[in-house]
Amino acid sequence: MKTIEITTSVKVYENLPELPVDFRNLMAAAKAAQQLAYAPYSDFRVGAAVALEDGRVLTGANQENAAYPMCMCAERVALGNANMEAPHVTITAMAVSVYNPRKTIAEPAAPCGACRQVICEQESRQNQPIPLILQGAEGPVYVIESGRDLLPIGFDKSFL
Ligand SMILES: [Zn+2]
Repeated sequence: MKTIEITTSVKVYENLPELPVDFRNLMAAAKAAQQLAYAPYSDFRVGAAVALEDGRVLTGANQENAAYPMCMCAERVALGNANMEAPHVTITAMAVSVYNPRKTIAEPAAPCGACRQVICEQESRQNQPIPLILQGAEGPVYVIESGRDLLPIGFDKSFL
């Protein structure tokens, strides 16, 4: 028997101004995208923005449904948007910001398990990691170098 140790590094920036300017701008786009959230059931608004290697920024926001399992997360909407609007263009980073009108979220909210799987698929598709930049409505910003860091021992195409 042996034990596999798995570690993940998270860079913690105390606030937005401390972030590199390109990440700060991407986070601003993610926050702006929250305006397009369709969240009549939870009021939980999530905006995501992806930076493309050609300089474009594309966004997504969560899209809820009365049939709750049909809800789409902002991260997956943004990735789908990018793959339709800019096919074969590498995504160089993704920013995600959350907002809840009933409480101030002062810590970053990490992508759900389904989104982690889809982010990892995108990384595999483009053969390049996607740094994730995460923030609540305010407060510190987490930067994680790759979706893979959030989904160790994941399932991928190597099994198929
Ligand atoms: Zn999700």
